[in-house]
Amino acid sequence: MAEFYCSKLLGKFEQCLHAVTTKDSKLTYHGSLALHTGEAANEIISNRLEMAQRLGADIDAHFIVANQTHSDNITVIESRESKGWHTIEDAIENCDALITDQKGVVLTILTADCVPVLLFDSKKEIVAAVHAGWKGTKADITGKTVGKMIEVFGSDPEDIIAFIAPSIGRCCYEVGEDVAQHFMDTEAFDKVGEKYMLDLPLINQKQLLDAGLIAEHIEMSGQCTSCEVEKYFSYRKEQGCSGRFMSMIALTF
Ligand SMILES: [Zn+2]
Repeated sequence: MAEFYCSKLLGKFEQCLHAVTTKDSKLTYHGSLALHTGEAANEIISNRLEMAQRLGADIDAHFIVANQTHSDNITVIESRESKGWHTIEDAIENCDALITDQKGVVLTILTADCVPVLLFDSKKEIVAAVHAGWKGTKADITGKTVGKMIEVFGSDPEDIIAFIAPSIGRCCYEVGEDVAQHFMDTEAFDKVGEKYMLDLPLINQKQLLDAGLIAEHIEMSGQCTSCEVEKYFSYRKEQGCSGRFMSMIALTF
């Protein structure tokens, strides 16, 4: 059953649960999981509860949702608690990366084109979830999250498995020079006339390598949310859609 999209690499580890929702997940109400985009809260909550049930996880799950702001702010979750799950009121404020060593705590990222990055330290058993749009990518939030895992939990980056989940690809992510200028030192764009086609997944992959991860431990989904709009929400393709899909990762008991 293709209810969720999963990583081959992360899927090898029993102690790590992860999933990416898709439109094929067929949640009752249109499939969005975001409370912050103006959709009916009761329908989103219903989708979330349905999804949690279908995850079929052998965990007494607590879900963490952050109020994502394209920052490079990272929050370490230190206890088994839910945040931002039943209401937006208690979501983690102004935060774009989550890390935890707590079993049964599901870290979530909501996107519709931005890059979700899921991280798992297989030795120390630490998980992290990152939201990287162009601003977060410019701020190296992905590299900084690995840095935080090293600083707080003593992670060895060579033990970290990374999954760069579906996001808008170089094929579809057209930006102006105002955005492209921040990435001129990379090879992660094509210039087409006055426009630039930017490759955010590639830059995040490079940041993971720079942070010390092994190339073979990084899996790129290779799926473009805009090209595959039948499957994923795409803010660009759907011209400002309110739907968001969810990428999540947790440690199981
Ligand atoms: Zn595309």
